Formats: sequence, structure tokens, C-alpha cells
Amino acid sequence: MKKQRLVILGSGESGVGTALLGLAKGYDVFVSDKGKIKEKYKNVLINNAIQWEEQQHTETKILNANVVMKSPGIPDKVALVKKLVEKGIPVISEIEFASKYTNATIVGITGSNGKTTTASLTHHVLKQELNVGLAGNIGDSFAKQVLEEDFENYVLEISSFQLDGIVDFKPNIAVLTNITPDHLDRYDYKFENYINSKFRIALNQTKEDYLIYDADDEVIIDWLKNNTIEATLLPFSLTKTIENGAYLKDENIITTIDNNNIIMPTKNLALEGKHNIKNAMAASTVSHLLKIRKQTIRESLENFHGVEHRLEQVLKINKVQYINDSKATNVNATYYALESMEAPTVWIVGGTDKGNDYTELFSFVNEKVKAIICLGIDNEKLMENFGSMVDVIVETQFMKEAVKIAYKIAEAGDNVLLSPACASFDLFENYEDRGRQFKDAVRNL
Ligand code: ADP
Repeated sequence: MKKQRLVILGSGESGVGTALLGLAKGYDVFVSDKGKIKEKYKNVLINNAIQWEEQQHTETKILNANVVMKSPGIPDKVALVKKLVEKGIPVISEIEFASKYTNATIVGITGSNGKTTTASLTHHVLKQELNVGLAGNIGDSFAKQVLEEDFENYVLEISSFQLDGIVDFKPNIAVLTNITPDHLDRYDYKFENYINSKFRIALNQTKEDYLIYDADDEVIIDWLKNNTIEATLLPFSLTKTIENGAYLKDENIITTIDNNNIIMPTKNLALEGKHNIKNAMAASTVSHLLKIRKQTIRESLENFHGVEHRLEQVLKINKVQYINDSKATNVNATYYALESMEAPTVWIVGGTDKGNDYTELFSFVNEKVKAIICLGIDNEKLMENFGSMVDVIVETQFMKEAVKIAYKIAEAGDNVLLSPACASFDLFENYEDRGRQFKDAVRNL
């Protein structure tokens, strides 16, 4: 019988992982990347005798596919993708492809903010008692782990772009952390399309599955009012009492499944900020569902110190705390960062603006921010929005200089917070590069 042809568009972590899995499952695999393929991935392709090309898409080698796995970075609007769809060739995502080859229990975590934190935290709790892998946008690709590991459970961080490419994929437990406008350029600038994309996490779920979500998020609540979902709903909330799910009562997180509850004092959580109470509620609900012991849940929520570049405490110098929140690439993430500041704050902000509306930050800036350092190529919008709100507002295009200025302004007891509310691509390679440069500059003070 002729082999099925699997074409992979985009040769990054998920592309190469899918190529390896496809090869092992007997596909005729071809990898095509419009850009340059990183050396480490090229070597994997060569060592496994997988056919590939870079800096081009040769249509004759692609339009003959039986199935195409598209990297989440490639928009649906691209002419080649449109052609594939017109020809009726399925264009799917890595999680769709890889999930066919595992019977593991899947916890799928999506949302506009908090995916990595919640996925890492959940994995941290589950791994105390279960054989569990962590994949998605974190570390080794899901496809590669399905091929090489033997995990009985997975925690997957799932972006909306991955969800756009699913057909049958369903998580046994889904988590939807929140929905705020992001990536709208990929959704015809319609928030509604982006919301629908996020809810695809529950598309194929059945009554035996669970959807855990933020019941304080109006966008989520509205959508649920107007659409039906098969899965059992387990909300979490900071403000309402929740019978099945998690809520806050007298500074305790109460997580309940079928009248069985776990009580966890929020003051014991290592992660700070209201948003992290929500992330902890999601993680504890998943863990409770998967029957992790109560004591283990409590202990592991207490000793989890967070993920790099997310409100990461860098150093204290002259009683000034330096905090790296470089991953705050949108206004909502910065909202929670500013909200969690408990001392006067020197705020480093800016980068590539994604059509930001800064109004929701105004009250925090008035209340907590003593100085603003704009770090971007174009800082005009920040100046316009915040110029009259603080005594000191300056701009620079160099991280080192930004940190030096912050050092001069900050006094004992203050915070210096890098929480840009913008993408990083104007001055940095990516948010990791921005965060690392910040930390290096702080360490060299
Ligand atoms: P994602 O993987 O969805 O981008 P991260 O966990 O990497 O999310 O966090 C991204 C940014 O959002 C960080 O600045 C972090 O402090 C902030 N954040 C984390 N959890 C939440 C949440 N539940 N709601 C809003 N912002 C959050």
C-alpha cells in the first residue's frame, strides 16, 4: 500500500516533533519552511533522513499531501494554506496529529494570559503523584514526547492557533484561564472570532469531561450563556460562592468536587497577585479531579515559585525590589502586575503596541506608579496616556539605560517593575531576550 504523505509547514519545535512522530508511524514525511531552519532542527531532520526544504515552499511537493500539519505561527490567510483547504486537504495542528497516538489523560490549558503559569503549576502538583508530561508551548513538543516518552498524563499549554487546527482533539480536563483581546490580527480584527477559537478547547468534550474556567470573566460567562457545552462545568471565582469548583472565602481557596473540599490559605501561596490566586484555583481543581492527596496539593502550591519572566523577583538592591514581568505583552497581563504591586513602583513599559487601550491601567498608575520609563522605539502613545499622571516620565531605547534610570529614581521600599504591556520585537529578539537583558542590567548595577 502506498504510504500516506504528511507535509509539515514550519520547521520549529512542533514541526520537527511531528516529523519524527509521523516517520515512526509510517508516513512519507516532507518538511517545508519558508524561512531558515535552525541548525539544531536541521540536524534532526538530516539524521532521521527526513526530506526537507527551507526558504521556499515547493507547491508540487506540498499539494500532493494527504494531510498537512501547519505550525501555529503560519496564518490561515497565507495563499498556500488557502490552496490546500480548497483542494480539501486537511490542515491540522500538532496537538491534533499527536493526540491520535496517545491514550494519556489530557489536561489542556488555554486562555489569553496565565497559560504557562497555570500549566507549569498544575504539572508541578500532578508530578508529585502521577506520571505526567508537560508540553505545548513549553519545552519539548507534545509530538516528540508522545513518540519518546510513556506518560500516562499530559498537561498541555494550548494557544488559540493550535486550537484552530483541531478536528477531533479533546482534553479530558480543559482549563480556560480568561479571554481578553489579543492576536486580533489573526482573527480579522474580530474579538468574537478569537473568543470562538478559545472555546474550541471544549468543542469535542463529552459529559465525562470537564471545563474549568474563570467565572469572573464576563466574556466567558456571556459565551456560556449563549452556547452549549457538553462537559461538566467547574468554575472558579474570587467573588462568588462556588458549589463545584473553587472560590475564595476568608482568605482561603476552597476547592470542591462532589462535596469533597480542600482548604488552602492564600497567604501560604508562594506566587503573588490576584491573578495567581486564580491560577492556583485552576491548578487545584485539576489536581483534585485527578485525586491528588489534599496535603500534596497544599504543599506543592506553597512551594512553587513561578516561571521565568512572569512577575519574577530578580534582586533586592538597597531595599528596592526588581521584578521581571517581560512576558506581560498585553495590557491585561500588566493590569495584574500593577494590581499586585504593594509599594510605590517605578514602571518600565513599552515596545510594539498591539492597538493597546491603556484606560484600565489608569487607576493603578495614579495610585502606585511614581515614575515611568518608556522603553520602545515609538513611545508617543505612552507619553500621551500617562504623561500627566506621574511626576517623572522618561524615554530610552536601551535596557541598560532604563535600569540605570530606575535605579536612580527608586528609593528604599520601592519596586522597579518591567511589565511592558507590549510585544518586544522593536528592540529585542523576543520577550525572553528582553527579560534576560533586564536581569543582566539589574545584576550589573
Ligand atoms: P501565557 O502563557 O498565557 O502567555 P503566562 O503564564 O506566561 O501566560 O503569563 C503571561 C503574563 O500574564 C505574565 O505577565 C503574568 O504575570 C500574567 N498572568 C499570569 N496569570 C494571569 C492571569 N490568570 N490573568 C492575567 N494575567 C496573568
